[in-house]
Amino acid sequence: KELGEMSLKDIDQVARTSFPLCMRHLFDTVSDLMIESCFMLHAHLSQEDHHMKHGGRMQLGLFLKGAGLKLDDALAFWKAEFSQKVGAERFDKEYAYGIRHNYGKEGKRTDYTPYSCQKIILSTPGVGDHHGCPYRHFSEENLRAALGKMGVSSRALDDVIDKAKTKHYQLACTLTYEAVHGSSCDAGINHPNQYLSDSQKILEA
Ligand code: SF4
Repeated sequence: KELGEMSLKDIDQVARTSFPLCMRHLFDTVSDLMIESCFMLHAHLSQEDHHMKHGGRMQLGLFLKGAGLKLDDALAFWKAEFSQKVGAERFDKEYAYGIRHNYGKEGKRTDYTPYSCQKIILSTPGVGDHHGCPYRHFSEENLRAALGKMGVSSRALDDVIDKAKTKHYQLACTLTYEAVHGSSCDAGINHPNQYLSDSQKILEA
């Protein structure tokens, strides 16, 4: 497998090792992987989560596209998640269009690019939304729990929280990257897909 390609069967594992927190949260919400721990608060809404709102679908969908997930695999991924809630037929009618649209296969055929950190940080998730940047949009309590789940040690955790509190969100993300990978990231994190590719380079080296 080449870097810059992701197949459906790899997603779960790559999400655990190499997704930045914003995408990990969306992915876990969609997949219901995390019932325990920090997302207990959200656990009761698994019904709703199989019906993730537009902002989250765009943020995660374009990230996965940027990660090299092919259109057919993207359709299969979202169908597996969504059809539990809406049924396969409704998925084909209402959601498949949006996914093909993201891939430039419908409408104006714009080849949409994945969102940068800046764009995600400046987004304004509402109640029931899961998109956005956790370093900015999570409560401190939820952020601590989420970082613990990612494997950030308690010593590094205080530094990350400190950066988030002082509004240095991308620095907080960079520190998380360094804590999780045990390796420095001198350039800093400025794009979720950069976090992913830097992580994969290190893990596959
Ligand atoms: Fe995602 Fe960027 Fe926020 Fe990190 S800093 S969680 S990559 S939006």
